[in-house]
Amino acid sequence: MIGAGFLGMEVASACAARGIPVTVVDTDRPLHRILGGHLSAAITARAAAHGIRFVQATGFAALAGNPVHGVALPDGTELTADLVVTCAGEVPCVDWLAGTGLADRLGVGVDDACATTAPGVFAAGDVTYLRGNATRPHRRAPFWSNAVAQGKTAAASALGLPPSGPSQDDYFWTEVAGLSVKIVGHLPLLGEPTTVDGSVTEGRALLTWTHTDGTATAVAYGRRKPITALRHLAATAGSSTPGGRSETNHPASAGSSL
Ligand SMILES: Cc1cc2nc3c(=O)[nH]c(=O)nc-3n(C[C@H](O)[C@H](O)[C@H](O)COP(=O)(O)OP(=O)(O)OC[C@H]3O[C@@H](n4cnc5c(N)ncnc54)[C@H](O)[C@@H]3O)c2cc1C
Repeated sequence: MIGAGFLGMEVASACAARGIPVTVVDTDRPLHRILGGHLSAAITARAAAHGIRFVQATGFAALAGNPVHGVALPDGTELTADLVVTCAGEVPCVDWLAGTGLADRLGVGVDDACATTAPGVFAAGDVTYLRGNATRPHRRAPFWSNAVAQGKTAAASALGLPPSGPSQDDYFWTEVAGLSVKIVGHLPLLGEPTTVDGSVTEGRALLTWTHTDGTATAVAYGRRKPITALRHLAATAGSSTPGGRSETNHPASAGSSL
């Protein structure tokens, strides 16, 4: 498996659950870029306990052989494999918009009403990014629930109606080595969380991270929690600590890949 992001770790987990030996290769630690050091360390340990081997490469891995029979690492190591899967990030498909001025390398920029820079043209879903302003950077959120929320907003905007709900949705979920992780709020999750309940070490916890803009991210780690309750936790944790506690946690630079 090349890539230790959400998809790479999910595919590796599926292999391990079926007794298939699997090695994940990445230049960064598993899920570190998006979930930060705290959860990355816990998830890496759990994955290892489930038989998922992780190799941190010193540079980009390359496919070895033709036909492919493994992965070559920059230090000369070659890992042999019956199958190589790459989950090394996603790029918005915007070639077909060339010359329209609607898209750049991040995708199609939209505002909170899902309006593009062209009058009367609206966009939603993975192809978009929320345009930044003086207080927030550009932000991609290529997740299912965000595509749904944006779809509704774009439709309302095109009809000249007020949106029926928020135009962005920060909820998503993943599952690693049999453990479900549900998240509501901005990413990445830098610094240490507040543990609301349970313990990450024991594989069952409710956590919050506060951000410098006063918002918060809530995480249900290995435990069942209704999404509405998780949303409520994120909303109250954020408003209860305006300004946030973390000096390094930037509110809106969500990962561009799952
Ligand atoms: C393997 C995988 C696992 C995922 N797991 C999760 C998850 O666990 N949780 C989560 O929240 N999200 C997950 N996602 C992300 C989620 O699937 C996307 O956020 C969501 O599908 C985005 O919806 P969309 O309609 O914007 O784009 P898509 O679902 O990608 O649909 C876009 C459609 O447009 C078509 N299209 C593209 N260009 C053109 C064109 N020029 N003309 C006509 N048609 C075109 C495409 O063929 C496609 O059918 C996952 C994604 C992948 C790939």
